[in-house]
Amino acid sequence: MAYTYDDQNIFAKILRGEIPNATVLETEHTLAFRDIQPQAPVHVLVIPKGPYVCYDHFALEASDAEIVDFNRAVGDVVKAEGLQEGGYRIISNAGEAGVQEVPHLHVHVLGGRGLGRMLQRAG
Ligand code: 5GP
Repeated sequence: MAYTYDDQNIFAKILRGEIPNATVLETEHTLAFRDIQPQAPVHVLVIPKGPYVCYDHFALEASDAEIVDFNRAVGDVVKAEGLQEGGYRIISNAGEAGVQEVPHLHVHVLGGRGLGRMLQRAG
């Protein structure tokens, strides 16, 4: 599948500095910042700086350096936000079925409260 990246998406604008963000950490290939509408006491979005639409796009086409940097950053966010002890959830929505709103790969890191079951059971 060919991926088409829309460079006008909101996270591309954040990466270009056109829209402010509350940065948690930044590395060579990755930015982590607080979600503007947090759904838990801790709700951090981790995004690669490269133009990747969704998780499979990144996992299949990003460089080894980007993939290592991104995954390490997710771990660093979990540690920095104090989530190791109490637990947390990582979510990455993709496409229509995943109800992805912003077409730039992002991982939600959620914690700070009990998060309930992962999904509702289908009928
Ligand atoms: P999705 O549904 O695509 O997985 O999640 C997109 C997330 O981006 C939502 O949780 C939403 O609150 C967040 N978001 C949308 N616009 C902005 C913004 O301008 N700044 C920040 N920090 N988060 C945003």
